Amino acid sequence: MRKAGRIVAEVHELMRRMIRPGVTTAELDAAAEDLIRRRNAEPAFKGYPHTGHNDFPATICASLNEELVHGIPSPKRVLREGDIISIDVGAIYRGFYGDAAWTYPVGEISEEAQRLLEATEGALYAGIAAARAGHRLQEVSAAIQRYVEERGFNVVREYTGHGIGRAMHEPPQVLNYVNEHDRDGRTVMRPGLTIALEPMVNAGTWRTRVLSDGWTVVTADGRLSAHFEHTIAVTDGEPEILTRL
Ligand code: MG
Repeated sequence: MRKAGRIVAEVHELMRRMIRPGVTTAELDAAAEDLIRRRNAEPAFKGYPHTGHNDFPATICASLNEELVHGIPSPKRVLREGDIISIDVGAIYRGFYGDAAWTYPVGEISEEAQRLLEATEGALYAGIAAARAGHRLQEVSAAIQRYVEERGFNVVREYTGHGIGRAMHEPPQVLNYVNEHDRDGRTVMRPGLTIALEPMVNAGTWRTRVLSDGWTVVTADGRLSAHFEHTIAVTDGEPEILTRL
């Protein structure tokens, strides 16, 4: 998982360097897939099934502005100054998965967009800091929610973090907010637990809807959304971030 995570981190470094006005999301996708395959790994999202819709067709999810997650790369989507773009990418190396997402600014962005990015990234690290052996998973959810709401933004309810290892999505589910019906939240974390924490944060309402392509999730009110994710391992001490160089 360290190796898979490292490959994912390398893809994000590449995305960070490539993202600028004029680049298409299809170009980002092609570069990401090429890098993953050169590392003898496979894209984890390509061909991912979705009941009633086509399998996911690409290596990265590229979600712009009001799009939260699962945006499909296209040669027609050209990045423009002032956009924010969330890139989510997973890789499989020798049967093990890594998964990470980051929201990048395209050139100069608005003050609100900047605050949203900082709140979402900060929420991810607040969640990671709470991922301690002996503590309940719900403490991670609480830390993320608190960090976001203190900054005046809202966490998405319909999508969550997840266990990860030999599959991309494994139990337990990791909510980004506290819910009394969250059974997985009562899980006591132990060293060796590997989870993907991924706050999705909206500038306005937390409500979302799915576009007619069956994949792209957008905010219900059309305002901005950001998404930051790391795959981590719970240890005896500090959590280990696996999707970092
Ligand atoms: Mg994930």
